[in-house]
Amino acid sequence: MAYCVHCGVKLGLNEKQCPLCHTVSIDPHEERPADSAPLYPTHTPEQLLTRSKRYFLILFGILLLVPALLCLLVDLLIGGAVTWSIYAFTALVLLYIAIAVPIWVDHHKTYFSLITGYVCLMLYLKMVECVSDSGQWFFPIVLPGVTLLILLTLVITHLYRRQILGKFTLLGAILILIAIVCVAVDLLLSLYTGGHMLVWSPFVFAPCLFISLLIFFINGNRTIREEIRRRTHF
Ligand SMILES: [Zn+2]
Repeated sequence: MAYCVHCGVKLGLNEKQCPLCHTVSIDPHEERPADSAPLYPTHTPEQLLTRSKRYFLILFGILLLVPALLCLLVDLLIGGAVTWSIYAFTALVLLYIAIAVPIWVDHHKTYFSLITGYVCLMLYLKMVECVSDSGQWFFPIVLPGVTLLILLTLVITHLYRRQILGKFTLLGAILILIAIVCVAVDLLLSLYTGGHMLVWSPFVFAPCLFISLLIFFINGNRTIREEIRRRTHF
């Protein structure tokens, strides 16, 4: 005995449609023509997503690989050696990795994007240092500067995702990040050039810190906070 899955009306023997609501009735045990559409999806939504991701990454890989190889080929044919094309080729390969890894992973996409982007950028800049013969600037300046930037960004991202920082205090945290990174870069540049003092960063550090402290003070003061929220809808 069969019932309509939609309205519950009892269906007659071999009745293909509900007489009341016209919902189609399908018997899974019934012999069906080989070319008819399957009764149930053949893949789970997760499998379909993985498959579409795979197609996208293959297509995207081909789109980047063609110009990358073209650069190498043109460079080799014209100059007889790999010179400028190494910059383009490495940039395109690392760009692919930086975009593909966060797309492929299912969890913690923001963290993966930041870390993969950081690793790819570091590899690229190290390659530029090695190939360009422009001195040793990667380990003294770039690596500590960018590492500090990415670590602070990860901390701020984590605090924001955990809702320890709100929209308003996020702005304050970003200003502190800018202040610290500017001082670090200034210090690293000074040390690199043989100096031992800060040159320009105090002019960035002071206003950033002041505005940031103001933001945290306003955020801590309920009366002012509510007044600003009422006026700005922030
Ligand atoms: Zn029905």
